[in-house]
Amino acid sequence: MAVILAVANQKGGVGKTTTAINLGAALAERGRRVLLVDSDPQANLTAALGLPKEAPSTYELLLGDVAAIDLIRSAAGAALPDAVLREGIHGEEPVLDIIPAAPELAGAEIELVSLSERHGRLTAALAMVAPVYDYVFIDCPPSLGLLTLNALAGADGVVAPVQCEYLALEGLSQLLETLRRVREAVNPRLRRLFLLMTMYDARTGLAQSVVEEVRRHFPQIILPTIVPRTVRLGEAPSYGQSVLRYDPSGRGAAAYRALVTELDARIVQETEGTRQPHPTQEMPPVLPVPPRERVTAGAAS
Ligand code: ADP
Ligand code: MG
Repeated sequence: MAVILAVANQKGGVGKTTTAINLGAALAERGRRVLLVDSDPQANLTAALGLPKEAPSTYELLLGDVAAIDLIRSAAGAALPDAVLREGIHGEEPVLDIIPAAPELAGAEIELVSLSERHGRLTAALAMVAPVYDYVFIDCPPSLGLLTLNALAGADGVVAPVQCEYLALEGLSQLLETLRRVREAVNPRLRRLFLLMTMYDARTGLAQSVVEEVRRHFPQIILPTIVPRTVRLGEAPSYGQSVLRYDPSGRGAAAYRALVTELDARIVQETEGTRQPHPTQEMPPVLPVPPRERVTAGAAS
């Protein structure tokens, strides 16, 4: 059964889409079967893998007009290095699939309100296809509206990219509170949370103090590997490729490969029962101290 992870943070431009694509590609590269679901009306994930932003899309999926199986496209050619595509994984075709989004998906935020089961529609729609995969990543829009709630209502966990910048932690307590509420009211399976630090620029003291701050507050849930800010990671989408394909030996690809090793190991350990997720530690109800002042203070010293 697939592990379903929502890639969420209500801040825009923090690296959600980049993370969904490259975690997915890195897992597919090591033989995991992966489905990426683009659930952002901006359809950046769809475009970044070279697919057209057109109907039918996640919009029809949510409204129940088209079945998931009819929406799935392969993204392996756009996302995986040639050698992986050629040789496959253990002789098998690597699997990296996508359900694309389109701008009309913006209407779903409003139209879903009047529908039954408005939080559970994505879960229901993916139920038939999810068991075929090892991982499903849902790329969320920069809001905590109904599209994100649909992703959370069906997910086993959340990967929240956090930018190594000023005000990085702003909004994180609201995200954590939303996760806690969804877990209590709708989806008790929503137990895993991974903070993934991204766009790290080693030349700035600010980036370092942001990382230290997040490590101090969330030692259990921060993933050890930090994604650097690299030109290649920014360029890859304009070529319709993951960074694993665009720059397979670069620092960006290396970071995402290391992250999936960490992610995969934690999830496999938990599934096998050698490591227990600690819900209360992993998902603190609120941030202990308003992080904004502390990060600023840390950066100034
Ligand atoms: P979100 O989905 O949260 O809005 P994106 O993944 O689209 O964020 O990233 C925002 C922008 O930053 C995009 O142009 C993307 O290519 C770029 N970007 C993301 N991660 C990095 C990185 N580590 N280094 C450089 N540019 C990045
Ligand atoms: Mg995005």
